Amino acid sequence: MRKSVYVVGAGIIGLASAYKIAQSFPDCDVTIGSADYHPNTTSDHAGGIVNNRDASPQFITDDSRCYILDTKKHCQSMKSDEANAAGIRLRETIIVSTDQEKMLDSVSAGVDFQLLTTAEIKALGYDCENSELRLIFGGQQPHELYGCKGYTYIIDTSQYLPWLTAKLKQLKNREGRPRVEFVTRKISNLNELNSHDLIINCSGHGAKELVKDEACVPVKGQYVLVKAPDMKKFITIGKAVFIPRCEDLYLGSVHLVGEANEEIDPRLTELVLRRCEAIYPDVRKAEILKVGVGIRPGRIGGSRVELEYLQRAAEPRKVPVIHNYGHGATGISQHWGCALKVARLARQALAVKAKI
Ligand SMILES: Cc1cc2nc3c(=O)[nH]c(=O)nc-3n(C[C@H](O)[C@H](O)[C@H](O)COP(=O)(O)OP(=O)(O)OC[C@H]3O[C@@H](n4cnc5c(N)ncnc54)[C@H](O)[C@@H]3O)c2cc1C
Repeated sequence: MRKSVYVVGAGIIGLASAYKIAQSFPDCDVTIGSADYHPNTTSDHAGGIVNNRDASPQFITDDSRCYILDTKKHCQSMKSDEANAAGIRLRETIIVSTDQEKMLDSVSAGVDFQLLTTAEIKALGYDCENSELRLIFGGQQPHELYGCKGYTYIIDTSQYLPWLTAKLKQLKNREGRPRVEFVTRKISNLNELNSHDLIINCSGHGAKELVKDEACVPVKGQYVLVKAPDMKKFITIGKAVFIPRCEDLYLGSVHLVGEANEEIDPRLTELVLRRCEAIYPDVRKAEILKVGVGIRPGRIGGSRVELEYLQRAAEPRKVPVIHNYGHGATGISQHWGCALKVARLARQALAVKAKI
């Protein structure tokens, strides 16, 4: 008998979970039900770097690091024309930081990283004596600088989300009908989804309200997208971040813990531009394509990827729910690893054979 799976949320986490379920369980029909879709999700606001970088260490755990490594392996396994179509690029990277431990942790999901010597960091133009660096190191003059170089995967969500959606729409059952249905629907309680065999909760920062999870913490980010076709390196010098996506350059970003206000603050725009200008003065001359705000789904204790059984009021049957939310500043990095875990949990919940 065919089983029915309902995925709440159509950000990168919901789409990847739905795809992995549909691919692994040919006898399941999947519904994605979401309040918003691309281009109106948090995932649309991400810079797209695949690494362990989260300014709030309480939002990232060893499990998150494993999910990130699985996403990196997924990017590595893609053929180049497929990666191109999906908006995934491997970019040369330079990182300079005052905290060597954090820096090395953040790049452990990168490729071929090696440390830079103090002389090499100076040769790049970054010297502790340089007073301009104060602005990009949070108002403090740095005493010691550490650096590394290598390569980082960047997933441009403006391409990746439509690409994944198209792949979901291509999946057909034996009769040639679509296996994945998309509906626009906001729910206020998981109990509203009573006719399904499995629910997958990928509601991002909506989970705070939906499942009353007090560990969820919104983290405001504001960024600037500019046209700068010559800049092809991913560079992070203190708080100045340059992410070359497929068609634009992403300048990021602020990290305001506890703030869920989606208004654009012109002072934050200026702060991002001033920090980046201190590293790459041409940024001021570049055409601004967009200023955006997104709310990162922070969660104390890291992302929640686990199976729970919900008791229905009028029925003896308990309904399995797989939660997959709270990925903080690293949801793009974690998405594929989490989708693999969701498929493993679904095999347990549905007790059916799977092609995982
Ligand atoms: C400025 C910024 C920069 C970032 N940069 C990076 C980066 O470089 N690398 C990285 O790895 N991560 C980055 N992130 C983090 C990343 O964007 C998030 O962790 C990720 O997008 C979370 O994906 P999600 O699918 O869980 O959430 P979302 O994309 O928010 O999707 C949640 C979905 O659930 C739906 N929903 C919510 N509640 C309900 C409900 N009650 N009923 C129905 N539907 C509901 C929403 O409509 C939405 O479709 C960044 C985030 C921001 C804001």
